[in-house]
Amino acid sequence: MADRTPISAANWKMHLTDGEAEALCRGLGGIEEIAGVEVVIAPGFLQLGAVRRGVDRRVGIAGQNMHDAAQGAFTGEVSPAQLAELASWVILGHSERRRLFCEDDQALRAKLAAAKAHGLAPILCVGESQAERDEGRTEAVLGRQLLILDADSPGDLAIAYEPVWAIGSGRAATAAEAQASAAFISGRLAESLGGERAASTRILYGGSVNADNAGEFAAQPDLDGALVGGASLDADSFTAITRAIAAA
Ligand code: PEP
Repeated sequence: MADRTPISAANWKMHLTDGEAEALCRGLGGIEEIAGVEVVIAPGFLQLGAVRRGVDRRVGIAGQNMHDAAQGAFTGEVSPAQLAELASWVILGHSERRRLFCEDDQALRAKLAAAKAHGLAPILCVGESQAERDEGRTEAVLGRQLLILDADSPGDLAIAYEPVWAIGSGRAATAAEAQASAAFISGRLAESLGGERAASTRILYGGSVNADNAGEFAAQPDLDGALVGGASLDADSFTAITRAIAAA
């Protein structure tokens, strides 16, 4: 089996001022010493500098989004070139971006290409809504969202399986549900990227992950860590999640 170091990724969303981010970074001091796990933090754009300075270089920094153009007249946007000065990762297609900001597959295809061009490793988020799951369409939705991947997709891509109904709800998927979706995703990756690349592409679970359930998700055969929202805003909690992922 390919060696896939698990990822413990924090999505701070639109939380924390500079001072609060600096304090959280201090609380996370030493997290880079946890063996067998790669830590990634996605702060707000304005806090990227403070976090880059506040954590060890072994901790990866991610944008939560970006524009696909390297530069241009796009008021209020952040370009991949700007992001790449501070970050090495970028979260793409988070369900909040898809749902609240009308981000579609065409836009995501362009952003994936831009990430590749600027050396940013994407964490592409996919996941079904509650209604789609209830209608038995989970795999159809995941399959459609993954159609944007092909042999040209970035080599350092990771996928986050994030059922929309589990995000911020306190109602995480069961480990079996997450594993079933991850296995489906893995099969689709083999078709679009080829077997070798699929075998080395990490698939994370996201949706109400906490210190108590992180280890069980990470122990699933097709899951390689977690993308963590709310529980990543507390240093002790995110450190415990990261330890649980490393130990799984
Ligand atoms: C997320 O924002 O990607 C997420 C999974 O949030 P939470 O952990 O709060 O459900």
